[in-house]
Amino acid sequence: VSTASTLLRSDLLDFHGYRSARSETVQGRIWLNANESAWPSAADPEGSCRRYPDPQPELLVGALARLYGMPPDEVLVGRGSDEGIDLLVRTFCMPGSGCVVIAPPVFGMYAVCARLQGARVVEVPLLDAPAGYAPDLDAMANAALLERASLLFLCSPGNPTGEVIAPEHIAALAARLRNRCLVVVDEAYGEFTEWPSASTLIADNDNLVVLRTLSKAHALAGARIGCVLAARETIELLRRCQAPYPVPRPCVDAALAALSPGALVATQAQVASVRASREEMLRELGSVPGVRRIYASQANFLLVRFDDPEGMLQKLLAAGIVVRDMRAMPGLGDAMRITLGDPMQNKAVLAALAQPDPIAEEAA
Ligand SMILES: *Cc1c(COP(=O)(O)O)cnc(C)c1O
Repeated sequence: VSTASTLLRSDLLDFHGYRSARSETVQGRIWLNANESAWPSAADPEGSCRRYPDPQPELLVGALARLYGMPPDEVLVGRGSDEGIDLLVRTFCMPGSGCVVIAPPVFGMYAVCARLQGARVVEVPLLDAPAGYAPDLDAMANAALLERASLLFLCSPGNPTGEVIAPEHIAALAARLRNRCLVVVDEAYGEFTEWPSASTLIADNDNLVVLRTLSKAHALAGARIGCVLAARETIELLRRCQAPYPVPRPCVDAALAALSPGALVATQAQVASVRASREEMLRELGSVPGVRRIYASQANFLLVRFDDPEGMLQKLLAAGIVVRDMRAMPGLGDAMRITLGDPMQNKAVLAALAQPDPIAEEAA
């Protein structure tokens, strides 16, 4: 038995989800089984959107499988990796009694999806060491076992902290939690690091799940395409809980275009540019007065602590620059997350931060 079938919500053991018209694999010439219009929309003269889309478009699943080096039956396509997080929680956390383990400060959707499902969120904070943030994987595993959590979320590279978790540590964690807990590695920023993906460990660890997305490096956030990479049994269970037609046809076309050889070459060049400007910004920000600490990052952003975060935020806003205020996050009361932009945008950030402090108004 796979870890996923052991951890499936017991109330879903006999649940197979919605059977859409598209799930039937019959051959036909005249399709009158899904109450679709017989005519194309005036907005869509080619009629490419006239019919319900393929629930898991074969071409796109194949392209993503090749991109991530997985067999196609270990790939589930959905509406961004956000949908993957939601599906994992809904499939493996019993409402009211399920439990997930996270390591804050981290991407907010793990806790949001857990709350919506009525699942408990056990927090094992990241350790803020001189070398940067790092998860306490032993403590996370202990918490998962103690609390009988079905999901343990890791983010690598971490958002907003930027660190990568070494694959051997992920492998050891997954081995320790086999049959007990799914280890989910969110690699939304995986393209921006030279570290290998944890997906190569799935073949040996049936409780390992990796999330990937076209939203960040591939510049398709608006198309909402992401995927879950996991053992075939895990994918099958998630699919039962997914919407009948999760991926809109225009988004499939956009994703396929983004995965064409030419587009992938362009993406690689953009990723290389981000990596180069990341190291440059790391250096430049280091000499900006009022910058308290910059975390080394393997992603397309930098986490920066300031002596006077409010003042710096105002200087950026005065220049029309919006960054992510992290002050509400645990341990980040003086921090902002600055996405790396193009070279002009990065220069504008440095110039804004280097503006002199406004002089306190003197009485005339
Ligand atoms: C941006 C982000 C996502 C969301 O990705 P979508 O595919 O757009 O849903 C997931 N995880 C992390 C850590 C992110 O930063």
